[in-house]
Amino acid sequence: MKFGTKAIHAGIEPDPSTGAVMTPIYQTSTYAQEAPGVHQGYEYARTQNPTRSVLEKNLAALENGQHAVCFSSGLAAMDAIIRLLNPGDELISSNDLYGGSYRQLVRVHGRYGLVSHFVPMQDLGSIAAKINSKTRMLWIETPTNPMLSLVDIKAVCTLAREQGILTCVDNTFASPYLQNPLDLGADIVMHSATKYIGGHSDVIHGAVITNNDSIAQQLRFLQNAIGAVPGPQDCFLILRGIKTLHLRVERACQNAEKIAQFLRNHPKVRKTYYPGFSDHPGHAIAKKQMRHYGAMVSFDLHTDTLEYATTVLANTQLFTLAESLGGVESLIGHPATMTHASIPLEERYKVGLTNSLIRLSVGVEDVEDLIEDLGQALDRL
Ligand SMILES: *Cc1c(COP(=O)(O)O)cnc(C)c1O
Repeated sequence: MKFGTKAIHAGIEPDPSTGAVMTPIYQTSTYAQEAPGVHQGYEYARTQNPTRSVLEKNLAALENGQHAVCFSSGLAAMDAIIRLLNPGDELISSNDLYGGSYRQLVRVHGRYGLVSHFVPMQDLGSIAAKINSKTRMLWIETPTNPMLSLVDIKAVCTLAREQGILTCVDNTFASPYLQNPLDLGADIVMHSATKYIGGHSDVIHGAVITNNDSIAQQLRFLQNAIGAVPGPQDCFLILRGIKTLHLRVERACQNAEKIAQFLRNHPKVRKTYYPGFSDHPGHAIAKKQMRHYGAMVSFDLHTDTLEYATTVLANTQLFTLAESLGGVESLIGHPATMTHASIPLEERYKVGLTNSLIRLSVGVEDVEDLIEDLGQALDRL
């Protein structure tokens, strides 16, 4: 089955009790038992919920996995994955990581004895240099935020597998439509379904997908034992969002390509970061492991001041100034003061994250309107 068909049909049957074509929201905390221990597979809704079960089957299919386990947020999903590790274990990740993931690794799991290293993962040598006998997991994010660097998933997974190290890919930025890390050798895929999978900026949700039965069993245990489960209405909203995932991402990628081209030719823009450009350092990797080049575009202004950035941010009408990404609506953000404010200035500048860097999450509106909106905001400079 191809992707669009899976998005709409995989794991989804008319509801067995009523024939409802769309998966109902089973808004219940418990289920009647005929006799003690005699039931239809559902006992208590932290452990099992039919709306959630359908979503998990669907998500597994989208990532070409056997098992999916859902959580109340992307970070709750990550927390469950990291709990597969033990105190004293080491993890290697990117120095250009989602801020919330960095915070959880260092300030939450660090307190319980996890040691995390952050390296430029585009450079395989920098990963190999940090591997030792305690290394248990590589945590990959690609494309990265907001610099849109590419990590070669297959190469990193091959390196890890040779040494018995698990790999997990945070696939949030690409979405399952653009990239399927399990096919490239990853052990685990994690999503903040809050972003492209949900796609309508109306729900917080997380998911983990794997082909490894033992990992799936441990995650299922953690889902129930810790209890960071999504409610049935949230699962319904994610299921509804998924039905148009391929259409939304396809259109958003087309829009992003045209916007990136417009920005690259604009006299007020010094540099545009977009993996679809043939001179982007990760272009060949993106071409190899992604279906399209994504719908995130970052750009830097010709004069590097906060004032310049603020002028653009304050004057777009269609692009809303907000955190997050992956919704149908276009968003504009300022990493230096918003998502990456906690990173020291020198560290930011080392990777090109300047005060005038602007990040776009391109939505599915008509691209002519989006370009006109950016053009009039840039004209104020
Ligand atoms: C948003 C995001 C997360 C966290 O997900 P939540 O659903 O907000 O908890 C993790 N990784 C990436 C790349 C994200 O964009």
